[in-house]
Amino acid sequence: MTLARELAERISTTSYDQLSRQALDYAKIGLLDTLGVGVAGSQDDAAVIARRTIAPPPGAALVWGTRGRATPLDAAFMNAIAANVLDFDDCTDNLGGHPSAPVLPALLALAEQLGARGRDVLIAYVVGFETETQLGRGVNFYHYEKGWHPTATLGVFGAGAACARLLALDVERTTCALSLCASMAAGIKSNLGSMGKPLHIGQASRSGLLAARLAAEGFTGNADALEHHQGFLELFNGPGNYSIERILEKWGTPWDIEMPGIAIKQYPCCLSTQSAVDLMLRLVREQNLRPDQVARVHSKTSSRRLDHTNRPQPRSALDAKLSIQYVLARALTDRCVALEHFEGDAYRNPAAKQAMELIHATAADPDSPLPDMGAEIAFIGRSNAGKSSALNAITGVKGLARVSQTPGRTQMINLFSLDESHRLVDLPGYGYAKAPLSVQTKWRVMTADYLEHRAALKGLVLIMDSRHPLQEADKELIDWSTDFSLKLHILLTKADKLNHSAQQKTLQTVCRALRDVIDAGLVSVQLFSAPKRIGVDEAREQLAQWFRD
Ligand code: GDP
Repeated sequence: MTLARELAERISTTSYDQLSRQALDYAKIGLLDTLGVGVAGSQDDAAVIARRTIAPPPGAALVWGTRGRATPLDAAFMNAIAANVLDFDDCTDNLGGHPSAPVLPALLALAEQLGARGRDVLIAYVVGFETETQLGRGVNFYHYEKGWHPTATLGVFGAGAACARLLALDVERTTCALSLCASMAAGIKSNLGSMGKPLHIGQASRSGLLAARLAAEGFTGNADALEHHQGFLELFNGPGNYSIERILEKWGTPWDIEMPGIAIKQYPCCLSTQSAVDLMLRLVREQNLRPDQVARVHSKTSSRRLDHTNRPQPRSALDAKLSIQYVLARALTDRCVALEHFEGDAYRNPAAKQAMELIHATAADPDSPLPDMGAEIAFIGRSNAGKSSALNAITGVKGLARVSQTPGRTQMINLFSLDESHRLVDLPGYGYAKAPLSVQTKWRVMTADYLEHRAALKGLVLIMDSRHPLQEADKELIDWSTDFSLKLHILLTKADKLNHSAQQKTLQTVCRALRDVIDAGLVSVQLFSAPKRIGVDEAREQLAQWFRD
């Protein structure tokens, strides 16, 4: 069976019941966010010029930010430009770009024409998202680093898949739509920082819709257009630089829109600059810093990202969105990074220009204090389950990790060095419903990225409150880590709050539930109490064992 057909089977057979609550929630957020940034972007020059050039004849689909309607193909093109031009639209890691901007303008335009139901739009969006991100898992980051613009080159498949699903195309017709998408995939990074960038997304969205419509009408395409020796994968990535196995490895387990999920942008500039802006803003606000107190700013970015963000002298507003120097200068001088900083001539602002002189951007040094070398053991668990207390008790260092009665306290990944090559890692607590969803998403993306990619990670310590263990999120994490064959040691904390027989009962219940993975040697479980020092030695022995292995 060809790759396009394998994907088509998944696309056309996914039902609403298969979508998790979380996936649906994120889909609704992605929809709102894309419409919001799309309406804002509709006033940008790129969107205005596109509308003037197309001068669309009237049709069924709304042109965002205007009272006009256009044919769905024209609307998809113009709305996708509007959705992406501000660089404010959502992001996701596996794609290496913006998942919604190519998909939703095509999908919503088609939905308006068909008078589709909301739930059908949601299924189509989630499967479109899944298609482009699973392709991303198989081609990135070679694809990204080579210079392709994945939001467009992969986004076209997302748009095609979503539209095929909304049109309820069968497997054969959906295969055809994906094959046609392969012929229309385009977008090169050399045009980032100009209107060429959103043009790619306009094309991807329109082409995805066109592919699905043509397929629906009986147009033909070759089912092996992706893996053919002169097909998408061989031409865009080349032999040995992609993995079909990885593309097909998972589908909705969990949905990519849910995990690692969509990152809703906080600042209207390139994704690769967002974390640096976060840190700069924290510094200036917490330290009450003024630019005249700053001698020099060292910004370290991964070389993959510095490649397109090292722009010390931006030449236009769109160029400034990708300039790490400009956005950090704005964070320093204005204490925020806002849309108005990218309007008109704002990028020439004298104070910002002066501050840019202070910013020195270099690639993250592989000899940095946190290289992915040596051995690490990470601690994870629901907020307030007692992770910080466990870390402190096990290391014997009071106040190493912050103990708090306010859930959701650990917001960053904290590393504690035991010696030169051994570290303990405090991962953000999950399941704290009061943290804003955008923050939760950020933690999840950061944690998933760490767990998936960290070579130094030797094992994971999962903290569960012994009074209510095996909550939904705990189970997900256990499934996930055992799927990856990552060793897991479970601490049933706060055991001192239970009497002896209740402690034994909890231990037995958890062991019974996890019998298979315990027998497979992947998981171990113990009782633990930080204040009463129950199980501290046992936990230390487990950690020492992992470090020895
Ligand atoms: P974290 O948010 O997961 O890091 O949890 P903390 O370690 O900050 O603990 C949350 C709350 O539970 C704090 O009030 C701790 O004092 C308390 N706590 C943590 N571990 C234990 C324990 O083993 N026994 C008891 N009785 N309380 C604990």
